[in-house]
Amino acid sequence: MNIFKRARIRYILHRHAIAHDLWVEVTEKLPVLQGMTAVEKAHLRELTTLFLHEKRFVGVQGLLLTDAMCLIIATQACLPTLSFGMGCLSGWIDIIVYPGAFRISRDEMDMAGVVHHQERALVGESWSRGPLLLSWEDVERDSLGEQPGRNVVIHEIAHKLDMLNGPADGFPPLHYRMPITGWTDALSSAYEHLVQGVEHHHRVCINPYAATNPAEFFAVISEYFFCAPEVLYVHFAAVYRQLELYYRQNPLLRGRPD
Ligand SMILES: [Zn+2]
Repeated sequence: MNIFKRARIRYILHRHAIAHDLWVEVTEKLPVLQGMTAVEKAHLRELTTLFLHEKRFVGVQGLLLTDAMCLIIATQACLPTLSFGMGCLSGWIDIIVYPGAFRISRDEMDMAGVVHHQERALVGESWSRGPLLLSWEDVERDSLGEQPGRNVVIHEIAHKLDMLNGPADGFPPLHYRMPITGWTDALSSAYEHLVQGVEHHHRVCINPYAATNPAEFFAVISEYFFCAPEVLYVHFAAVYRQLELYYRQNPLLRGRPD
């Protein structure tokens, strides 16, 4: 990083520091952050400060966003990028927050080239080089850990990371020296196993939404990796190891409060 960029970051960290009481209040409340080391938390705080400074939070449909709400979103958005830095979340600005699930309508072309008009209710959506859309109701519920393995913010950030090298396909840019075959073998075999289970109406070990396509699989396993790492490790140890290499974090070591 060049000297001017470093000076600018130092300036932002100093000038726009997150209020201490608010930081403590929010980080103590979020189960996903429990067990992090002091060094990890300090780094997360810096990333979150830069994120809050660089992104624009927009509440819509009458939603009034408070500093605490923005911090809850920003902290969880930065958690997966702890070892990457802010660069991986650049190229877009807006975070649009709805009070609850929101409806999106668009035309989509199927494999046969036929265009269908789709209208769906969503709790989150990431656009490539565009905004991040979230339902506050779901952010809040997931932030409190009410549904193990669910976290809409981490899910959407995983899509953002996946789209750094093209359309979301479950294959984000891997680090130097991370063998591609290790990633594709572990993820494809777990994905195929899951799809088989869902197709045969078996009870599956993680959110069946992961069987939608490889992009959703990557986003859902990322949620489990951070929020319910023991579940992912027990059922898909090889996948867990790949995510550990990719995210360069080991949430299993953090433990979870009872
Ligand atoms: Zn998704």
